[in-house]
Amino acid sequence: MPPLFQVRAAGDQALLRVMRNVAVKGDIMITAQSASAFIETEQRLGAHNYAPLDVVISHGEGVWLYDVEGRRYLDCISAYSAVNQGHRHPRIVAALVEQAGRIALTSRALRHDRFASFLERLTAVCRQEMALPVNTGVEAVETAIKLARRWGYRVKGIPAGQARIVVARNNFHGRTTTVIGFSSEEQYRADFGPFTPNFDRVTFGDIDALREAIGPQTCAVLLEPIQGEGGVVVPPEGYLRAVRELCSEQRVLFVADEIQTGFGRTGDLFACDHEGVVPDILIVGKALGGGLYPVSAALASRELMLLFGPGDHGSTFGGNPLACAVGEAALDVLVDEHLAERARRAGARLSEGLRAAAGSRAREVRGRGLLLGVDLYGPARPLANALRERGVLAKDTHGTVLRIAPPLVIEDAEIDMLLSAFAEAIATL
Ligand SMILES: *Cc1c(COP(=O)(O)O)cnc(C)c1O
Repeated sequence: MPPLFQVRAAGDQALLRVMRNVAVKGDIMITAQSASAFIETEQRLGAHNYAPLDVVISHGEGVWLYDVEGRRYLDCISAYSAVNQGHRHPRIVAALVEQAGRIALTSRALRHDRFASFLERLTAVCRQEMALPVNTGVEAVETAIKLARRWGYRVKGIPAGQARIVVARNNFHGRTTTVIGFSSEEQYRADFGPFTPNFDRVTFGDIDALREAIGPQTCAVLLEPIQGEGGVVVPPEGYLRAVRELCSEQRVLFVADEIQTGFGRTGDLFACDHEGVVPDILIVGKALGGGLYPVSAALASRELMLLFGPGDHGSTFGGNPLACAVGEAALDVLVDEHLAERARRAGARLSEGLRAAAGSRAREVRGRGLLLGVDLYGPARPLANALRERGVLAKDTHGTVLRIAPPLVIEDAEIDMLLSAFAEAIATL
């Protein structure tokens, strides 16, 4: 929908802010500055570690994003599934604002009155006994690695310094030096070494390869139940169950990274639920912050988690009052609005429509729930650009795959808009 009229207010930032507030509530689009001015400054002063689409977003609501030039877009990136609940969900915003008006940060040197209820909600939704909250996803991955190794030494009896962890090729678990060290993506590793040793990589989805890789020194198998960044790679049916059984049988911890797949994204609360599998350590993040604030956690049984003692591990901002308030509200929305079920239904409609529209132009449309990938025969970036011109923001991952992952609150009418834009866009290839 084009804006009804536009206002130029480049000189007066205060006025502009007031007008933006009005615009968010009505049908007025505010044109401030051209996108190119923002992009020029960003390129000059910001590190070039991303190659974003050239849209400059100024506000968002639900599944919609608005740029500084007054255009509206359907968000099919959802900040890599961190915005499952939709942009600025009123209930989560209210929790954040209310909490910010009381206390935001205490550090874990003190206790605060939001921690207990957040932990109750988080452990209940995740069906694990205990949680260790941190900020970003990769911190939760690091937490899981430390916990698994400690279990390996103290419980399984692996000789000091020898614990090994099996991971999948084509994985994505974040960007710390340890985590990129076991990535198979050369770009993530190039000239960043040396790396942490004792990670073994196997082909994702191949249970025999996994069986072979597990040895007496293996403390854990770390997997994404569906590989998100790797191009929305869904393992063969039965794989996760077989991994679970193998891990139990070999006395190895099964660590599931559900940072991207968790909290309803794949049509179940967790992607492991699809095969009725419960991991020994569950890693969550992204949508736990309700699209507002970084909140992540590692969860496990009491027996495991109590291997951490005071001072063994921590984070200044981890589990802070603001994070707890936001995280609790994010979980409430997820459960009360049945977002997993909605993702399942919306995902069925969307994937069917994408398949029909793509026809023979795509190798495959795959995924589960609202985590979908369109695998093309060539680079996916031109399709992303053609979609952007038609008011849909989606991004290529892994070269030929266009990932489509809108907020889980997407309605049928919006799916149909997305599908007609997609049909047009793919016809331009
Ligand atoms: C995004 C992601 C991470 C890293 O999370 P950050 O918050 O960016 O550190 C780890 N694992 C998976 C599966 C992810 O999708």
